[in-house]
Amino acid sequence: MGEILVLMESRQGELRDVSLEMLTLASRLAAANGELVTALVLTSQEHAAHLTKQAARYADSILTLQKESFAVYQAGEYEEALAALINERRPILTLVGHTAFGMDFMPRLASRLDIPLATDCLSLSREGGVLTAVRQMYGGKISAEVQLREAPGYLVTVRPGACSSAASKAEPGKVEVRDWTSDPVTAGRTFIKYLETAGGGVDITQADILVSVGRGIGKPENIPLAEELARILGAELACSRPVADKNWLPKHRQVGTSGRTVKPKVYLALGISGAFQHQAGMKRSQTIIAINKDPKAPIFSIADYGVVGDLFQVVPALKDQLKTILKK
Ligand SMILES: Cc1cc2nc3c(=O)[nH]c(=O)nc-3n(C[C@H](O)[C@H](O)[C@H](O)COP(=O)(O)OP(=O)(O)OC[C@H]3O[C@@H](n4cnc5c(N)ncnc54)[C@H](O)[C@@H]3O)c2cc1C
Repeated sequence: MGEILVLMESRQGELRDVSLEMLTLASRLAAANGELVTALVLTSQEHAAHLTKQAARYADSILTLQKESFAVYQAGEYEEALAALINERRPILTLVGHTAFGMDFMPRLASRLDIPLATDCLSLSREGGVLTAVRQMYGGKISAEVQLREAPGYLVTVRPGACSSAASKAEPGKVEVRDWTSDPVTAGRTFIKYLETAGGGVDITQADILVSVGRGIGKPENIPLAEELARILGAELACSRPVADKNWLPKHRQVGTSGRTVKPKVYLALGISGAFQHQAGMKRSQTIIAINKDPKAPIFSIADYGVVGDLFQVVPALKDQLKTILKK
């Protein structure tokens, strides 16, 4: 029976969301073609039991390779392990997150194994042995369907946030744990340590309501307008990347692929266009409200409620209404 191999990405002993999202995609494909999904966990002994147990709830089978140098991501070690496993098992498809990890080592792996690679994919389908992937181009303005040349196996990196997370299975998957005893790989770089951004006591991932500010806010002098709205709503302030890059708000408030992933009850986006890197960090919010003067802004495609208008007119009116309602 054919196999789809999915690399579980973890950080500091916990699976990252993208791992479960890829399992959703893999399970759909496998169901359509009568194949099995194997979750591949590369880890040190310290985290092996916990990560294997987490992955076992979502995949048909789990292959855990233990090696001390898998404790943290090292490009050379990952490439060696994947190359050996793909040569051994010949999976039909190998999925890795389009994250700093996947972007780093997958092109080298594809070139080394001479296997077709599609990067940053949103969805996949396979017919008659040919893989078709949907990818966005030109900064998300168009979605393109690309077909890969017919091959016995494919490599794909999947964009974080492209799918919902897998639902857990009634029965845990079959587990195989192996000690991986390959020689250490010296790839010219060494992991030193994780650096957490200073949180300043605020954790936007825990907030029920977020008022999030984008470049449309114009200048730092306008931030208090959003701050006051947040105070009235009992919300925390968040932002898009340009706002953090310009130091209008601190980095720990940034939402998106290079910021935090949030799932509040309400996400109010002020002057945010909704680039995919931003959406990946907030699209699973329960209710999304967008205020933007451009009716074609991509944020409206995922918003539950939208106001097409100038935030400098809408926000003061909203504040006045809220003050009246909340006084009653
Ligand atoms: C590797 C990489 C990682 C990235 N990571 C992230 C990330 O983690 N988070 C993130 O947010 N971005 C990230 N980005 C950047 C992302 O691609 C976008 O550039 C960014 O999200 C745009 O931010 P924005 O929506 O605030 O600004 P813009 O795209 O400039 O949008 C501003 C919006 O404000 C609207 N506007 C302007 N004035 C008003 C007004 N008066 N009233 C109402 N609306 C108004 C405009 O119509 C526009 O839609 C990343 C990019 C790369 C390449």
